Amino acid sequence: MDLKGKIAFITGGARGIGFEIASVYAQNGANIVIGDINEEILEEAEKKLKEYGVDAAGYKLDVSQYESCEEVVKKAIDKFGRIDILVNNAGITRDNLIMRMKVEDFDRVISINLRGTFNCTKAVIRQMMKQRSGRIINIASVIGLMGNAGQANYAASKAGVIGLTKSTAKEVASRNINVNAIAPGYIQTEMTEVLPEEVKEKMLETIPLNRPGTPRDVANVALFLASEYSSYITGQVIVVDGGMVM
Ligand code: NAP
Repeated sequence: MDLKGKIAFITGGARGIGFEIASVYAQNGANIVIGDINEEILEEAEKKLKEYGVDAAGYKLDVSQYESCEEVVKKAIDKFGRIDILVNNAGITRDNLIMRMKVEDFDRVISINLRGTFNCTKAVIRQMMKQRSGRIINIASVIGLMGNAGQANYAASKAGVIGLTKSTAKEVASRNINVNAIAPGYIQTEMTEVLPEEVKEKMLETIPLNRPGTPRDVANVALFLASEYSSYITGQVIVVDGGMVM
């Protein structure tokens, strides 16, 4: 799929699913801006992306702070002149049963996963409206569709991302901006590596395709949603979970 000359901004793009999306976009010709709170790994990620023969820039970003999103968007526009694709990928978990969940852990997850998605969307939307074109891809989760004991904060944030996706899609469709969400299931990254073995085994039992997903499984759908092949799709949630939720 051809993304030649497109400018893509991926939050939480220095590792995991975000870095895989950035890599797949770069392999298809897009110039890349990655923003990540983890400054130490940004430089290495930027270097790897440039090996695909495109231009890439990595900036420190905290999606929970609107000013930080605005600053990175400004840097991206100063460097590349436009933003064609925004992938709201940065996300965290702070799991616990509601009874034991600290109020701060509820707030932190909402402020990164949900408000962070709103912040970056708000920061790019004027530019995309001016361009009269754009793609926004929000990384939600199957947990936002089905809930999960021990993940009330995460489930609420991802259900919120789905509502935000549909509202944004309706607001900006007339400007030729498509907004969709991807809801991954169990994907092997550092986020899920820390889960206890018995939890991983239990999750596997619920996956008809009988394997965990890879970051590439998610990135392939993000590529489709950024490409011309998905130009008549907006406001949708595409589940990438090996059949876990159906
Ligand atoms: P990951 O490996 O932990 O990578 C997430 C990246 O986002 C990290 O580099 C992280 O930095 C960064 N980040 C954290 N807080 C940030 C902030 N405030 N501002 C900017 N960047 C920030 O996670 P992943 O598994 O790739 O997940 C990516 C997305 O997919 C998340 O939204 C997650 O909820 C979603 N998802 C994942 C799965 C799964 O099974 N892995 C399933 C469904 C949905 P640090 O390393 O410093 O935290």
